[in-house]
Amino acid sequence: MPTSGDHSGARPHVVLLPSAGMGHLVPFGRLAVALSAGHGCDVSVAAVLPTVSSAEARHLEALFAAADPAVRRLDFRLAPFDASEFPGADPFFLRFEAMRRSAPLLGPLLATAGASAVVTDIVLASVVLPVARECGVPCYVLFTASAAMLAFCAHFPGYLDANSAAGRAGVVGDVDIPGVYRIPKSSVPQALHDPKHLFTQQFVANGRGLVDADGILVNTFDALEPEAVTALRKGKVVSSFPLVFAVGPLLPVMFPAKDPAGYMQWLDAQPARSVVYVSFGSRTAISPDQLLELAAGLEASGHRFLWVVKSTVVDRDDAGELGDLLGHGFLERVRGRALVTKGWVEQEEILQHGSVGLFVSHCGWNSVTEAAAFGVPVLAWPRFGDQRINAAVVTRGGLGAWEERWSWDGEEGLVSGEEVGEKIKAVMADETVAKKAAAVGDAAAAAATSKGGTSYRSLAEFVGRCRDA
Ligand code: UDP
Ligand code: UDP
Repeated sequence: MPTSGDHSGARPHVVLLPSAGMGHLVPFGRLAVALSAGHGCDVSVAAVLPTVSSAEARHLEALFAAADPAVRRLDFRLAPFDASEFPGADPFFLRFEAMRRSAPLLGPLLATAGASAVVTDIVLASVVLPVARECGVPCYVLFTASAAMLAFCAHFPGYLDANSAAGRAGVVGDVDIPGVYRIPKSSVPQALHDPKHLFTQQFVANGRGLVDADGILVNTFDALEPEAVTALRKGKVVSSFPLVFAVGPLLPVMFPAKDPAGYMQWLDAQPARSVVYVSFGSRTAISPDQLLELAAGLEASGHRFLWVVKSTVVDRDDAGELGDLLGHGFLERVRGRALVTKGWVEQEEILQHGSVGLFVSHCGWNSVTEAAAFGVPVLAWPRFGDQRINAAVVTRGGLGAWEERWSWDGEEGLVSGEEVGEKIKAVMADETVAKKAAAVGDAAAAAATSKGGTSYRSLAEFVGRCRDA
């Protein structure tokens, strides 16, 4: 753990504060490595132990082992928190709340670390910003989702206020984001229809707090989301909005893979672009009935597939047997042309493997940025939260297709295996989809990996500000 070192020289010391869940930890780990290895910063990552999921624990361990000593750990100890106040709440949202309530404890941590700047997760923004201000440390936000979602998050509190003033308090319909585009009611994250939901309360507070940030880093690139990035920067969404640094796609950090399922070897044996990779992220559970239909659809598509099955929100709870989850005889019937695993996979390695031709994805934003980085076409099947807003970015940006009629979590109606199979066949056969996705991959590389690229320059500008602070 760093003590009060001298960070006033040429190397700024940036303290990163991720919240819980792989969707948040992964981009923070990538930012840590980009800042330390690529831009000459000292970096500390504040970590809360124990983590909610075992995937997070393994990820933190691998990050600190691989990036030591440039990336160091700060222990963020939480104040006692009584979760019984929120019966039945999602364990990740509960951790967000526990971290939010512990924000005052960050003051001493920042002071001891000698931080030149702190970058907080969006989920903690409204409570961390005042603490950083009090310590005199510039505070930036890493927005871990799309720029469209950032615009939505910034606009939403004002949208609710206008509805209240018009006598429609708490009502959420289509949301027209000034200068960006309209988010239909059906794409608004489920929880936001309930003003009392813990997520809604945090979301609105963070949206209001954003204007106080010294700047916002967002894991996207100008060419993927031109409308949203431009509108935010021009103050069309919210006037006097902070600086927006579009720094994505943040590049994968490759850790030594543990691959007990042997998926990389299996991929090596498949023909180019022949495999459908299927994953719904690290924490999205699919109902048992829908899992069976998805299994039937993959079988009916006739294609090879690599499927990472997750049937619980938190991996520690995942005790079900694959054979039971997917139906009698399924694994035997697809043997040879499919690999199905419940284990953790190194997704970025899979997506850059030449045998992968399509990614059936829930459109968690990290998954979308990884598909963009490697030019892999996406068949979007959003399930939850911001994923429909992200799926719209996928189609608008030319990264793939989305069957908007397909239901998401909490809606009536199963998508039949037959329909899933037909759609996979159609997208796999569409050369235009593949070409456009490859072009997105080229644009992502130009933005993030070349020194003149928009994202590279944006990150350099952010570091310049930390250095001058
Ligand atoms: N991921 C992975 N292996 C898995 C499941 C997920 O590497 O078995 C990674 C994935 O590449 C992504 C992150 O975990 O970087 C999940 O974030 P995303 O935003 O896509 O979805 P979430 O899990 O937050 O819903
Ligand atoms: N989000 C936000 N403000 C908040 C909390 C979350 O804008 O106060 C965004 C966050 O970036 C995330 C999305 O809303 O991408 C959905 O949040 P959740 O934590 O459910 O998603 P995940 O953990 O799967 O990324």
